[in-house]
Amino acid sequence: MYSGAFCFEEEEGLAPAAAHRAPAAAPADDQLPAATVAPPPERGPPPALPAPRPLVYVRSDRLAQLSAGLPINRDRSVMTDTLVEDYGLLQDAAVRQAPPASLEQLQGYHSREYLAALAHWDKLSERRRAAYGLEDDCAPFPGLYEHAALTAGGSLAAAEALCAGEARLAVHWDGGRHHAGKGKAAGFCYVNDVVLAILRLLSSFRRVLYLDVDVHHGDAAFLLSPRVLTISLHKAAPGFYPGTGALGAGGEGTGRGFALNLPLGDGLRDNPFLQAVAALAGGAAAAFQPDVVVLQCGVDGLAHDPLAGSWSLTPAAYARAAELAASWGRPLLLLGGGGYCAAAAAATWTGVLAQLLGKAPLPDDIPAEHEYLDRYGPSYTLSAVIKRLLPPDTNDASAVLAACEGLLAELRSALARQARHGGSGAAAAAQQKPDCKRARS
Ligand SMILES: [Zn+2]
Repeated sequence: MYSGAFCFEEEEGLAPAAAHRAPAAAPADDQLPAATVAPPPERGPPPALPAPRPLVYVRSDRLAQLSAGLPINRDRSVMTDTLVEDYGLLQDAAVRQAPPASLEQLQGYHSREYLAALAHWDKLSERRRAAYGLEDDCAPFPGLYEHAALTAGGSLAAAEALCAGEARLAVHWDGGRHHAGKGKAAGFCYVNDVVLAILRLLSSFRRVLYLDVDVHHGDAAFLLSPRVLTISLHKAAPGFYPGTGALGAGGEGTGRGFALNLPLGDGLRDNPFLQAVAALAGGAAAAFQPDVVVLQCGVDGLAHDPLAGSWSLTPAAYARAAELAASWGRPLLLLGGGGYCAAAAAATWTGVLAQLLGKAPLPDDIPAEHEYLDRYGPSYTLSAVIKRLLPPDTNDASAVLAACEGLLAELRSALARQARHGGSGAAAAAQQKPDCKRARS
């Protein structure tokens, strides 16, 4: 059993990779070499800054590799990134490989002890692992610390792009891990990249609106600051994870009233969902006047999500919700979240991005060169994914009507027959003795 204190010092051989360490602090102005502060030469104006790209898209091939073997979300990361790419949505984007978050960055929210547990879980007893939530749906696995650092690093890089004014839209679909606590993994979330990204945004923006449409309540969100307005639409029911998010305004201290929770019932369809998003989030955005918006776009409210199985949304609902968030005219950080059918999540997030880039609707046929084409069989179309989500109604409307007509015709015949044999309607029926023999059979 491991009993010593954790330590990240490199000389003790327990340090995460060098890239995880915080970047060196910038030198003070008086330490800069003279040439750096000299006035610019007088040979014409400096070159113009490149225009902001419409999209910064953060992905991580290494994270996709680490995630590919996990039983939950198997291949979801790589399927999403490659589908987005194969539909040509990244042609005008600045595409970045997520850097791993530094230890210092991760400690912006998480405890040092917890981060050490992520790095060295294999040295912990089962009891200690359980204390950090590293069991069941958050079971540890080789590469866990790197996975967490890349997850956080991707969302931080996307937030950084907005802070630097490089884009108005920054996307990191591997982010949105809204359940991880300071010192505990929870709900498939090992690191809370949402909180870390919001912290980064707060260094450049005055007010952040955080909209969470995952079917599960974002229970580890920002609660303490009136500079962050959290809006969560989710299912809340006895026994449904995580068991929080009752109707009302939460928040603590000066953040009291800045966390709006709207639980919604089972079977939620697109229209009521969108009406709720427009009414609550739209109204809140108008009142709060955020400077930047974060959308946790977990798609486990899709119909027949294999894990949540609660709501009956289609991909179009998420595309329209994201469009609404973008319509507020603020820089938008778009993160993923839940969504446990990989093909459905990939198709939905690709559709969301197409909508925001003005490239919707996408061609229905999945690009022939797409590596995961077989996951969209047998028709290999986006619409087939949607049809799979909402099982087709096997009732043919005209056939149903014809059957009704047939039954009514039989009834009319029976009534006519009855009338011919002395009496009509209910009176005749009442006089007729029941056929007990047949009734018992
Ligand atoms: Zn969820």
